[in-house]
Amino acid sequence: MLEEIKEKWPEILDFLKQEFELTDISFKTWILPLKVESFENNTLTLIFSGETKMSGLVYVNKKYCQLLKIAIEESINKEINLEITLPNDTEINEEFIDNLADQEMISLENRIQEANLDKKYTFDSFVVGSNNDIAQVTSLAAAESPGEIYNPLFIYGGVGLGKTHLIQSIGNFVLANNPNAKVLYTTSENFTNEVIDLLGNKKNKTSQEDIIEFRQKYRNVDVLLIDDIQFISNKDRTQEEIFNIYNDLFMKHKQIVFTSDRKPKDMEGIEDRLINRFEQGLTVDIHNPDYETRMAILKRKAESLGYDLDESVLQFIANNFTANVRELEGSLTRIISFSKIKRTEITLELAKDALKDLISPNQEEKITCESIINIVAEHYQISVSDICSSKRSKEFTIPRQICMYLCIEYTDDTLKQIATLLKKDNHATISYGKNKISKLMKTDAALKTSVDILKKKISPN
Ligand code: ADP
Ligand code: MG
Repeated sequence: MLEEIKEKWPEILDFLKQEFELTDISFKTWILPLKVESFENNTLTLIFSGETKMSGLVYVNKKYCQLLKIAIEESINKEINLEITLPNDTEINEEFIDNLADQEMISLENRIQEANLDKKYTFDSFVVGSNNDIAQVTSLAAAESPGEIYNPLFIYGGVGLGKTHLIQSIGNFVLANNPNAKVLYTTSENFTNEVIDLLGNKKNKTSQEDIIEFRQKYRNVDVLLIDDIQFISNKDRTQEEIFNIYNDLFMKHKQIVFTSDRKPKDMEGIEDRLINRFEQGLTVDIHNPDYETRMAILKRKAESLGYDLDESVLQFIANNFTANVRELEGSLTRIISFSKIKRTEITLELAKDALKDLISPNQEEKITCESIINIVAEHYQISVSDICSSKRSKEFTIPRQICMYLCIEYTDDTLKQIATLLKKDNHATISYGKNKISKLMKTDAALKTSVDILKKKISPN
């Protein structure tokens, strides 16, 4: 049997690589260093002779042992036990291995956090359809071979279509597959505010070292992900910093990915030299999901929430929400919470009832206080119910007052109507809030950036 396995080894590895779609780098790092050692009592022993020894062994065991077992069994047509160990002359300490396994997990979590990523955004949870397949394939290729193929990768598309999901998937994939890779995700808003803090703050003069440290942070990465790049329009210093960081990374063959709500050519208030850079690699778009994709996304989402819903309910949502995946998901969660409140089963009737306020095709474009509050909540990653509450921590009061400011600016609703919506008894609170934001915008540049960006989110053109 040992001889047979040795003979078939190249074929087994080939199968493993193809079947489980291992990247070249993963294959080279983890699989090639494995040698067939012995076969006794139906147990096949492999030796891992990779550079990283103990920590490598732990990782290979965790990630590839099961897959290898399948590939081997497939080839020799027999069930076996599989053991992967280090060469004889290495001391193995079980406790050390257990600790390492834990550390590996912790260290991946830490790296995800340091990269500013959210681990829920992965390629695995991204539903591919005809609207996004090219963006998905090129993102995956960029993640597998950072800096080598599509550089920069520029992904554009409308609101709620999965740009953030994809760009973050790239980062998460790179971190999970390359233990040494450095990834950094940022939004252009966050980046702009960092630049303002560094350069614009005259009162609090920043030292040269802070500036160097800031630039180092962005230049010292293998993959830089900048989300919603459109918001740097008319921000000269920000554009200059991005231009310089871009050039530096590009020369070093480091991967850069941007997302935007429109293609580079249609971006206004951005220097030509930067637009040229955006167009230097590959530009791909995501458009509205077609019916099949909407159904697939809904099914996946329902499943992940632990629900097995009737086709008719999913069809109803898919037919009524066509232009935005976030709304699609939002409708589903609304139906679910509706059924919890009413303590009834989820039926088509219930779905219709739950969504009746949202389905008004001709009003979709109109800016309402509700839509403003939704945008502000989403922007600050807090819930609508926290905005419309009396919670007094700064985390909520500022976004709430920004809602007051924006509702007055963008709608004809009366102060009283706005107050009712925001659950305030006194409508004077609304004008107070508005004035406070107007004043703050004059002194607090970061707040002004956020409000400017919110205005663009409310009314993109
Ligand atoms: P964008 O950044 O383009 O505005 P997001 O990436 O934030 O959009 O997507 C909005 C929501 O829809 C997120 O919860 C995201 O996970 C989900 N989503 C978008 N596209 C898909 C997809 N193809 N498969 C699964 N979920 C998706
Ligand atoms: Mg986004």
